[in-house]
Amino acid sequence: MTATISGTRTYRLGEFHQFEGGGRTFVYVVHAGAIFELDEAAETLIRLARNGGTAHESLVNDLTTSGLTIADAEELVEEMYHSHLLVDSESAPARLENPPAGFPLQSMVMNLTNQCNLSCEYCYEFGADKVATPEGKPKFMDLETAKASVDFLMQSAVSRSAVQITFFGGETLMNFPLLKQVVTYASEQAAAHGKRIDYSLTTNATLLTPAIIDFLAEHKIGVTVSMDGPPDLHDKLRVFANGKGSYDIIAPKVKLLIEKHRTRAITARVTMTSGVTDVVRIFRHLKQDLGFHEVGFAPVTTSPDRLYSIGEKGMDGVLNQFHALAEEWLEYALRGEMHGFSNVSETIAELVQGVNKSHPCGAGLGLVGVGPSGDIAPCHRFVDSDQHAMGHVSTGIDAAKQADFLDRGHVNSKYECSTCWARPLCAGGCHHEAFVRYGDTGHANLHYCDWIRDWTDTCLKIYGTVSALNPGFLEQFAERKAL
Ligand code: SF4
Ligand code: SF4
Repeated sequence: MTATISGTRTYRLGEFHQFEGGGRTFVYVVHAGAIFELDEAAETLIRLARNGGTAHESLVNDLTTSGLTIADAEELVEEMYHSHLLVDSESAPARLENPPAGFPLQSMVMNLTNQCNLSCEYCYEFGADKVATPEGKPKFMDLETAKASVDFLMQSAVSRSAVQITFFGGETLMNFPLLKQVVTYASEQAAAHGKRIDYSLTTNATLLTPAIIDFLAEHKIGVTVSMDGPPDLHDKLRVFANGKGSYDIIAPKVKLLIEKHRTRAITARVTMTSGVTDVVRIFRHLKQDLGFHEVGFAPVTTSPDRLYSIGEKGMDGVLNQFHALAEEWLEYALRGEMHGFSNVSETIAELVQGVNKSHPCGAGLGLVGVGPSGDIAPCHRFVDSDQHAMGHVSTGIDAAKQADFLDRGHVNSKYECSTCWARPLCAGGCHHEAFVRYGDTGHANLHYCDWIRDWTDTCLKIYGTVSALNPGFLEQFAERKAL
């Protein structure tokens, strides 16, 4: 039966991206978001099918003239067909299904306050590109709203065995008393609902104290510190209202945090801006001088005409430095050590997990942001924005607004992405950045496509090399993080 059906097929090549690693050849198959190693016979098959319209019988015949038995040729064609490297000639390009309605929530970002004690010029909450409309809304979340938020998470995550709460701001630690109360309440509720719960927070570190650090360590709360490098770079934009840089205040606190908080990795998150693009020097300072376990970099989200916007040339320089750190990451991986450059680790984890995204991130899907008022937003960056609100924790998600956000943000809605091999990982990029740049959360972030494809190709080569030379190292990336 199978032979009869396959015998009538005419093939073309599916979408894939070919790359080398560790002396071997691989393909990244777009339809599946999966990686396959090619042997000589598979490479021959790809060459033979390159022009499309290849009938099954003729493909098998050509393979046998290159040395395969008929049985092996049939098996190879079948294997390639099922891995979507070969597809039916007339088939339409693959499109990803929508996630099912009522997709359960897994993560909540709670903005405990929209107030901050720093005045970073580039801040997406307060800067020129802000989307928030906080006027007339509470500045600090209260306990009642926080409890309602936790209850909403537990109800919306009904089929999940684990949930996550990320504490955010403003400056999160300006509402530390509430954070402590939420941890107590949410842990009780998680236990009552039979769920595991994980906490993390993002902070500018100015308000860290030994007592706060003890609490974070005791409750295994993951910490991400927003920090832009050594003093000359960090203090360019991460300043107090009087213009004074914050480096000298936070550096000793960060060192104490890293020394005392041993239960979770401590991460630095660097916002790259014009003049703050010296990636290797920043990495060395944060990793080696201060001792962060992981350091991740992201370009500032801004419209292109802001003074602190990096620009295309600056991003090319960033990419060169990313490549230098990526090479180091690979050397470490081949020795079985973690390097700490999280931009590689995060992409490798997605590759190991075979991620194939309908949406660029979990925003509005498995993840929501909640503002001090209890308004629900797609993620923390849209909190307090009337335009993007999608319900309230006391009444639940507004299904129509959520559907509109998800429909527009779906990769199938982004014309330019439909032929891009990097779409299983990128899916058009951050909704918030798209809104700031193009005024539409569903617009593809076309200003960085070449960059994304180059970086994805770099990470694929690293993946290929590690899988060829030290495959066991990749196992630690297999556990899927929450959406
Ligand atoms: S935004 Fe660009 S890089 Fe990303 S999937 Fe779309 S076309 Fe590809
Ligand atoms: S929309 Fe952007 S900022 Fe929000 S969760 Fe997604 S990637 Fe992050």
